[in-house]
Amino acid sequence: SASQGLWLSSRGVAGVAEPTAAPTATVKLLIDGKFVESKTKDWIDVKNPATQEVVSRLPLCTAGEFNAAVQSSKDAFPKWRNTPVPQRARVMLKLQELINRHMDELATSVTREQGKTLADARGDVFRGLEVVEYASGIGRELTGEYVEHVSAGIDTFSLKQPLGVTAGICPFNFPAMIPLWMFPLATAAGNCMVLKPSERDPGAAMLLAELALEAGLPPGVLNVVHGTNDTVNAILDHPDIAAVSFVGSNAAGKHIYQRGCANGKRVQANMGAKNHAVVLPDANVEATVAALTGAAFGAAGQRCMAISAAVFVGGMGPYRAALLEKAKGLKLNAGWEEGADLGPVISPQAQQRIEGLIASGVKQGAACDLDGRGVSVPGYPHGNWVGPTILSGVTTDMECYQQEIFGPVLVCLEAGTLDEAIAIINANEHGNGTALFTASGAAARRFQQEVDVGMVGINIPIPVPLPYFSFTGWRGSFNGDLQMYGRMGVQFYTRVKTVTQSWKDAGAPGVIPGLAGVG
Ligand code: NAD
Repeated sequence: SASQGLWLSSRGVAGVAEPTAAPTATVKLLIDGKFVESKTKDWIDVKNPATQEVVSRLPLCTAGEFNAAVQSSKDAFPKWRNTPVPQRARVMLKLQELINRHMDELATSVTREQGKTLADARGDVFRGLEVVEYASGIGRELTGEYVEHVSAGIDTFSLKQPLGVTAGICPFNFPAMIPLWMFPLATAAGNCMVLKPSERDPGAAMLLAELALEAGLPPGVLNVVHGTNDTVNAILDHPDIAAVSFVGSNAAGKHIYQRGCANGKRVQANMGAKNHAVVLPDANVEATVAALTGAAFGAAGQRCMAISAAVFVGGMGPYRAALLEKAKGLKLNAGWEEGADLGPVISPQAQQRIEGLIASGVKQGAACDLDGRGVSVPGYPHGNWVGPTILSGVTTDMECYQQEIFGPVLVCLEAGTLDEAIAIINANEHGNGTALFTASGAAARRFQQEVDVGMVGINIPIPVPLPYFSFTGWRGSFNGDLQMYGRMGVQFYTRVKTVTQSWKDAGAPGVIPGLAGVG
């Protein structure tokens, strides 16, 4: 069944390639359980990156609208936190059912606004869905601790209580997964949340909000606001917001972490990445090339866990030709086209930035084995196209190495030994993910032990942990203490209260006053 499309006139799967709803279609705010039109004068266009068609217009919400959203969450909190845990969990069970039912619609929205292929868009929804599944078992994660007899007749126990109003600030690259990293766990734990989707692709988040209401999330428990820097700063400065979850770039993340913390908020900020794969000479060439190609160019490289740098120990050898061959075979096309392997990048500005970094690599002495600049895609003359690009002979002083490119570009470096490769990775500012390709268990053990990166794949290119674990980026890729989803996510959205209580027995030993004689 189709969603009601209250937030925007929504369209079915077949509509993905067609010009979208009326040009005046606007993205609504969700305030206190109602999808409402913003009264702002400032709007930005949400564009299909394969065509530049305007999908919808997004409001930069007014201060009054923002404050109303926070107030709504604040008002909803007392009742929601006292809603029995199994009842909150059942809302999440229902939400996972609804997300499954609306999978195609969600994926279509992701493809239309973000550009990735429909298969990748389903993956985007699915990885978020797994967090909803985890949130539906929230009771198990809220258990406290108890020590009896800390003194005569005295026991101490701990409770996990929700924080109150939380906020979530999302990036463009996973428009379904990242909102689902945030609001399901926050609300299942008893909090309310004000969510700010990415201004570039809000559609999936709006559809998810609609499904969350349908699943039974009461008005005010989830509010959705739209905007850019001003809205984010309003979140960071609002005294009623206790905690902020952020995923996005370094520049925004550092600012958000510092300003949020300065205002006494709990902040978790997932930021940029430069994920290295290390290839040892004993690795299986075919499997490694397939893994590298998918991880470097899939989703047009716009994944925070994409492999964007490969370090070949002992030189590229057979990899240079094999990678080139495999990457050349990838089909660049609009995400909804049959057989597309990668879609466009998010914006013309992103395209220019990526092309500029490729050019700087060439200028600084790298070889461009495969050049994705200036490619065209038949039928889509206005798309933000960058084809798979391979730069080899790259060194760590080059700009194309030092910057996060966030496009379908693999930079290839060489190292003499595994230790040298580890040293390169550990000297990089980022520490999100990394992968080692080898047939040696001893090398794998050494790598997983020594590498200064928070998520490690051994013969696995994109080691994103399932929600039984947490998303554990390190160093420049994360600011904060408690990471997203899993146990640490629950810890982030709760605080521990420790109660010490004395119930002394006034009567004779073994006799409870008032109950004497009973039974
Ligand atoms: P972005 O930082 O431009 O935007 C993210 C959010 O921050 C948006 O909601 C935006 O409105 C807001 N924002 C942007 N600039 C701001 C500013 N100066 N002040 C206040 N708010 C601001 O990021 P993006 O381009 O949407 O996403 C891509 C980035 O996200 C990449 O760097 C990628 O590595 C990173 N990312 C990281 C993870 C992770 O888990 N580590 C996951 C996904 C994406």
